Amino acid sequence: MSTTPITVVVSGACGKVGRHIVRAIAGEPDMRLVAAVDRKRVGQDAGGIAGVAALNVAVSDDLATAIDSAKPQVMVDFTTPDAVKDNLRTALRKRVACVVGTTGLTPADLADLGALCREHATPALVAPNFAIGAVLMMEFAAQAAKHFDAAEIIELHHDQKLDAPSGTALRTAEMMRHVEGSRLGAEPRPADAQPPRGQAAGALRIHSVRLPGLVAHQEVIFGGLGQTLTLRHDSISRDSFVPGVLLAIRKVRSLEGLTCGLERVL
Ligand code: NAP
Repeated sequence: MSTTPITVVVSGACGKVGRHIVRAIAGEPDMRLVAAVDRKRVGQDAGGIAGVAALNVAVSDDLATAIDSAKPQVMVDFTTPDAVKDNLRTALRKRVACVVGTTGLTPADLADLGALCREHATPALVAPNFAIGAVLMMEFAAQAAKHFDAAEIIELHHDQKLDAPSGTALRTAEMMRHVEGSRLGAEPRPADAQPPRGQAAGALRIHSVRLPGLVAHQEVIFGGLGQTLTLRHDSISRDSFVPGVLLAIRKVRSLEGLTCGLERVL
């Protein structure tokens, strides 16, 4: 039985992750890339940039016009913390469901985004990490937070990353602090008022490493009496984000309002 493909616009289509997403969409029979937006390589074919056969989709630098002419059902955004808010406003006003991978959105930004989703009766899914292993690491870290009084997070990324701490680290800290029975507490401990190193997120310190050669990596180290527990996830290729993004494209239109975290649709 054939179904009508989900039509998709990718914002940030020429970026490091965006190219992987374009290539993946091109290989899926139930979805179709109808528009690609970026600041660079405007006018070139998105397929050629992603390393697949021509898709007859020229890169545009104008999201609103691209949506008006291609009428996508879903926008996927992997741009920059500066660009993503305008892109979301544009897409939601035009009732295009949004899958957001771009990090750097603050809690206040997410509150605004939730209000926009409600105002335009259009859903959005924001996930700081679309890699299934990273989502599991966050869930395991939340479980371990019920059993340890101390933990630190070390996140390591490539040196082009614009935000720090990473969205994954902030989300991990939030999950560890708010899980029922957490021993890491919602309030920062006094020692964290002036953290000697790293960056404080509640009782948890987050350390950010930025080096060439890295992709996206995170360790959560718990310390207890005579023992440590280390949870580690490594994205060694940006392909690690692809299955989660494809799942989100398939699911987002069935959601309501704003959904945060890939785990909500797994
Ligand atoms: P990147 O290589 O810099 O790609 C971003 C692309 O967006 C660039 O081509 C950039 O052009 C373009 N861009 C900038 N402003 C734009 C606008 N207004 N409209 C359309 N395109 C615009 O970055 P990346 O490594 O792909 O990462 C993108 C974002 O995804 C980052 O926030 C990163 O932290 C996040 N990320 C999330 C996940 C996840 O699983 N959620 C995984 C990896 C990365 P210029 O180069 O000209 O600025």
